[in-house]
This record gives sequence, C-alpha cells and structure tokens, in this order.
Amino acid sequence: MIPAPFDYVRAGSPEEALSLLAEHGDEAKLLAGGHSLLPLMKLRMAVPGVLVDIGRLPELRYVRVEGDEVAIGALTRDRELEHSSLLHAEVPLLAHVAGQVGDPQVRARGTIGGSLAHGDSASDLPTAVLALGGSMVIQGPSGTRTVAATDFFRGYFETAIGDDELLVEVRVPRTGRVGWGYEKFTRRANDWPIIAVAAVDGRVAMANMGATVLRASATERALAEGASLADAAALAHERTSPSADMHADQEYRRHLARELTRRALESASTVS
Ligand SMILES: Cc1cc2nc3c(=O)[nH]c(=O)nc-3n(C[C@H](O)[C@H](O)[C@H](O)COP(=O)(O)OP(=O)(O)OC[C@H]3O[C@@H](n4cnc5c(N)ncnc54)[C@H](O)[C@@H]3O)c2cc1C
Repeated sequence: MIPAPFDYVRAGSPEEALSLLAEHGDEAKLLAGGHSLLPLMKLRMAVPGVLVDIGRLPELRYVRVEGDEVAIGALTRDRELEHSSLLHAEVPLLAHVAGQVGDPQVRARGTIGGSLAHGDSASDLPTAVLALGGSMVIQGPSGTRTVAATDFFRGYFETAIGDDELLVEVRVPRTGRVGWGYEKFTRRANDWPIIAVAAVDGRVAMANMGATVLRASATERALAEGASLADAAALAHERTSPSADMHADQEYRRHLARELTRRALESASTVS
C-alpha cells in the first residue's frame, strides 16, 4: 500500500524537533528509523500530516557509562547496541537482545528510542529494559523528566511520552557479570516474539502477555521468598492477559510464558 500524502521536515536538533512538534500539534509524528512507523503509514493505520525526521541527530546517538548506569541516546541503532563492546561488558543482556531484533536490515535502521516509544507489547528491547529496571529520559517544552520503565508503558501502543515530547535517552543499571537470560519464541528467525522472557537480577519481564510488556511479579515474589526456579516459573502467567491470534491462543501463550521463564531463569543462574 501507499501512504497518504504527508509533509516532511528534518529537525537539526532536539530543540528544533520539539518546536516542530509544538508548531504542528496532532498532525506531526516523529520519524526515527521508520521501521515501525512507515509500515503503519503504508497500511494507513497511521496518517500523520507532517513527518518530523529526527533520524540524523548525532547528539542522541551514544552509549556511555554514567555512574552506576549506562546511558544510551534514543537514536542509537539496534546494530550499534548489538556490537557495542561497552554494552557487552556493562549490560550484556541488552547487547544480546538488540541482536535478536528482526534481521540485519531492521537492526541497521531501528533505534532503541523508536522501539520504546512505539510501545508494542511484542517487542524485544522494551522487554529487556523493563527487566533491567531501566528508565527513560523525556524532553518536553517545560524541561526534562525521567520515567521508570515500570511507569513508562501505559497501554496498547501507549507510553508516558506526550504528543509534544521527545524521548532523548534510555538509562539502564550496569549489571556487569550478573547472570541473565533471554528466551524468544518465534516462528521464523527474524520475527517479533510470539512470547519473549528476559530475566536478570531477580527481575523477569515478558513480551506479548498483555497490552504492554509486563513484569512477572508472582514469579519475582516467589524467587525473593526462596522458591525453586521451576516453582517460581510456574507462576509466570499469573495476572497476564495474552491475546489470541493466528500464531498462538491464550493457553499456549501462558504455557510458553511458564516454559520460557524457567529457561531464562536457568540461564540467569549460570550465564555471566
Ligand atoms: C521486518 C521487520 C521486522 C521486525 N522485527 C522486530 C523484532 O523481531 N523485534 C522487535 O522488537 N521489533 C521488530 N521490528 C520493529 C523494529 O524494531 C522497529 O525499528 C522499532 O520498533 C521502531 O524503531 P524505529 O527507530 O524504526 O522507530 P520509528 O518507526 O521511526 O518510530 C516508531 C514510533 O515511535 C515514535 N518515535 C520514534 N523515536 C522517538 C523518540 N525519540 N521520541 C518520541 N517518539 C519517538 C515515532 O513517532 C513512531 O510513533 C521489526 C520491524 C520490521 C520492519
């Protein structure tokens, strides 16, 4: 399909992007890597009047250590995360998960900020950032605020980012050699997860088990109380509402959540 007509403007700085958003209001949509937005436009599920291209802002493209955290610019591409030696040393789960997104072509364009801002429950990087206990730095007309991942994902394709705001940075704790696990179940290697589970440092997050990526809180509680990995994993489906589609019905998704959680926890107890 062909998208509806739209105007295109390239922002030269984060501040210019914000002023373009203010100028065009509801009509405007930010364009980062375009690998979620453009397919939606082709299906006419998104019909922005103006695309504000932020894809070439070098000041939002970095991976660096800041105290106990790694700070990642929102426009850092998946491929850069996948191959970042700093990230492999400091937050290996995130480097690994970036390498699981789509195929090399998708990873060459897709950005971590775009993936988080898109708010798709069936996404890899949001699952990892939620499991890591990360946070998002959002810039708007009245300044900058930081939102914890647990408060960031609000609903079906809905996040804490306002229409007049820009996600500028993602922050994750430096986990170093702490064990981690990531299990992604797909029909084809380059697909979105039917279910995915990330486990690190006693936290467990799941993709595609509800309207947003979710923490497996019953599993986390059981682990904290000393349950075995298998017993804790058996609770992963609690308080979830997975959808049913051509790939899996709800019961199969719940089964996958339990099974992949067990595997992710086992990896987390050995991998470092
Ligand atoms: C063939 C294919 C396979 C894929 N496979 C997977 C997969 O296996 N796993 C997976 O997780 N994803 C997958 N994706 C999605 C891919 O990861 C996207 O690149 C990503 O979801 C969006 O990132 P983007 O930079 O392309 O964002 P865009 O498409 O440019 O933007 C997405 C949304 O976020 C908004 N936005 C972008 N950046 C910002 C910002 N800094 N601040 C505020 N709002 C912003 C845009 O306005 C838009 O609404 C796949 C995509 C394709 C096309």
